[in-house]
Amino acid sequence: FAKRALQGKAVVFNAALEQEMTASSQLDKALRRSDHEAEFSVKFQPQYDLVKSKVTGFEALARWDSPELGSVTPDLFIPAAERAGLIRGLTQTLLSKALREMASWPTDITLSFNLSAHDLMSPQAMDSLLDTVRQSGLPASRIEFEITETAMMSDFNQARRAIDQISAAGHSIALDDFGVGYSSLQYLQQLPVSKLKIDRSFVSQMLEDSSSFKIVRTMLALSQSLDLGCVIEGVETEAQVHILRTLGARHVQGYLIGAPMDADQIDPILSTPMPLRKASDPARPPSL
Ligand code: C2E
Ligand code: MG
Ligand code: MG
Ligand code: MG
Repeated sequence: FAKRALQGKAVVFNAALEQEMTASSQLDKALRRSDHEAEFSVKFQPQYDLVKSKVTGFEALARWDSPELGSVTPDLFIPAAERAGLIRGLTQTLLSKALREMASWPTDITLSFNLSAHDLMSPQAMDSLLDTVRQSGLPASRIEFEITETAMMSDFNQARRAIDQISAAGHSIALDDFGVGYSSLQYLQQLPVSKLKIDRSFVSQMLEDSSSFKIVRTMLALSQSLDLGCVIEGVETEAQVHILRTLGARHVQGYLIGAPMDADQIDPILSTPMPLRKASDPARPPSL
């Protein structure tokens, strides 16, 4: 009986796997055929400074509107583009699009741009990305590159060269999704990283789960003692903001401030004052 049950499971598992593989090969095919310039766009999500009570920058987030598949999330198409060897061209297109929009922003507003591990692996690709920024005429100090720790795992030395290249060009570097994946504190010691972005998985649990709360508190303390900037990702409620303030957090990003938006929504966001109300009935951190 047990054996039959197991066999049954195996069949289900294979069917699911097969379906998944078909879906991913459809994705790969659509991606290979895609017109980057026409089908890919960039949305911008505001980053908010709790001390200045204003939006100080935007993160560029890629969107794909495929004629065959409809809209596809970057969590799917970025890895697919990496598999297909298409990511460098795509990154180049996305960066150009983001910079074109940025040209009309006030001069104190920054852009954060996500790089894939594959972008870091080629010095020529990095050169050409940095060249694109130079040609835009925008000051390097206004454009920050986000990289994830996983990006450093396959070839640390090459990743370090790329990061040095970026930093030598005058850009700051943020370590994205900090705390998930293969964090190593050695990276912070050995690389010119200037900011941590605390992954939203911790923040979303922070009010219910005391270990998530403690992790956020500890990562904030770590960033403060290492003199690094820190952005809390995935902030969705005023209660979260309230607690984050008490922990000394300064920069937040999330749906509470704004979801990723089209470029033409940026102007209204910047011209409307956006004080975040201090919650009148603040949620307490989970009892410790
Ligand atoms: P990320 O860089 O960590 O970006 C944050 C993700 O969290 C975005 O998802 C954003 O829309 C989402 N998010 C922001 N605030 C909230 C919130 O309050 N609640 C919730 N539930 N989600 C929130 P998105 O746009 O789907 O992007 C997913 C990931 O895809 C990004 O994670 C990034 O790793 C990657 N990605 C996006 N654009 C690019 C790109 O141009 N190049 C590369 N290499 N990767 C990109
Ligand atoms: Mg990011
Ligand atoms: Mg992130
Ligand atoms: Mg992420």
